[in-house]
Amino acid sequence: MLNRRRLLQCAVLASQYALFPKLQAASNTRLILLGTQGGPNVSLQRGETASLLVINDQPYLIDCGYGTLRALIQSGVNYLNVGHIFLTHLHDDHNADLPALLGHQWTQGRIKATKVFGPYGTDKLVQAVNLFNQANTDIRTVDEARSVQPKDLFAGTVVKASAEIIAVFSNDDVKVTAIENTHFPAESKAKIPHRSLAYRFDTKDRSIVFSGDTAYSDNLVKLAHGADVLVNEAIEKEGYRAIYDKRVAAGAYADNPEGVWKHIMGTHSSTEDAGRMAAAAGVKTLVLNHIIPPDLDDSVFIASARKAFSGEIIVGKDQMVL
Ligand SMILES: [Zn+2]
Ligand SMILES: [Zn+2]
Repeated sequence: MLNRRRLLQCAVLASQYALFPKLQAASNTRLILLGTQGGPNVSLQRGETASLLVINDQPYLIDCGYGTLRALIQSGVNYLNVGHIFLTHLHDDHNADLPALLGHQWTQGRIKATKVFGPYGTDKLVQAVNLFNQANTDIRTVDEARSVQPKDLFAGTVVKASAEIIAVFSNDDVKVTAIENTHFPAESKAKIPHRSLAYRFDTKDRSIVFSGDTAYSDNLVKLAHGADVLVNEAIEKEGYRAIYDKRVAAGAYADNPEGVWKHIMGTHSSTEDAGRMAAAAGVKTLVLNHIIPPDLDDSVFIASARKAFSGEIIVGKDQMVL
């Protein structure tokens, strides 16, 4: 007999299914969009960038922007079981929640390793996360007689940025490959060693590609060739200047508003670019994420992507299961 509380839960679930009709509960590979905000921009509508693949019940996290830990809990996936994290690049809207996630994994008693893969600097980043959590570690080690240390569990592995497809990780369930995308311009790359990556996950039943942040990228098209799903960032550039100017007027980017504007326009995909890359790669489904601006009607994004891409287009929303 259904009690009132259970009826309410069913109603909530039913509304979620109605909202997200693409739910593929039968698939062994589920894609959950945890955070779909283009950033860095903390908003109440969307979390910063993070996506989860659940493959044969094992979670694989792609990016870890602000709000990821909370979004994992909301998704019903136990964050203690996240043992593989793939960072596309080290901008803060893609890794701000890493100290929170790894810190809480340790505090809550994870005793297995969590591997963090990412471009140049990822090893140092994870060492810094452990250092960030050092006081917490020291206090609890003494106070709770803890025997496992974060440095024994959490380490970063640097993935080479290359114009060729690079093998990153594989097990019986998934093969992960990467390629360098086009987020950092050549003049920046001449001055800094940092690089930016796109990832592809091939499982027994699906292939899913994550663009990361990138302007139009032939490398990404190569990586995504024939994939089932391309999760690609999308900016509606037209009309965004007025929104940007309002933020500048409110005090944002005070040291160089035009420098930041140039970065946003020059190193990110417009929604049309996302459609063009999806078409060139021949993917079945284009999922838009890293959405800017965060509250524009879906129809605007779909119309822009549709100019080049005739396949399925989904405008990503937090907690969408695909
Ligand atoms: Zn970003
Ligand atoms: Zn970025």
